[in-house]
Amino acid sequence: MSIYKSKHNVGDVEFVECPYCEKSETNRFKMLHHKHLAGHNKTLEDVLKEFPGLITMTLAEKNKKIKSEQKHQEELIKLAHRLQGVNLEFNEKVDNKGQLFGGISSAHIVSALAQKGLKVEKNQIILERAYKQIGKYLVKIKLAQGAEAEIKIIINKK
Ligand SMILES: [Zn+2]
Repeated sequence: MSIYKSKHNVGDVEFVECPYCEKSETNRFKMLHHKHLAGHNKTLEDVLKEFPGLITMTLAEKNKKIKSEQKHQEELIKLAHRLQGVNLEFNEKVDNKGQLFGGISSAHIVSALAQKGLKVEKNQIILERAYKQIGKYLVKIKLAQGAEAEIKIIINKK
């Protein structure tokens, strides 16, 4: 399970203030956002160095982020379960040695999975190179740490 990793100084406070802005009603944030800090030409690292101990994120905001990350992880695990054991069949033109003219790459696998309503990114498919031969192959899909599946690719002669 991944957990929300943050370099923020988290505190059980109602809001945090930007140390580079003037004190005001609008200088109240759930967290000091890097985009806001960029407006001061600063990074979070700068803030923590210049204002040691300054609270830069509220506990409520951190809990919210952890919750949404957990939800995302749960969705990936569900998707991994749906992917597990899926068979993808491809009918390809081959030469007389059974060699494909093209090849089955992760892009082909992504679109074949998409047709089954399974949304996977190309870089989540663990494939060293495209398949150039007819046959059956097991392909590992890694959606995230702890959310993995293995599918079967069947390449037939057209
Ligand atoms: Zn500011």
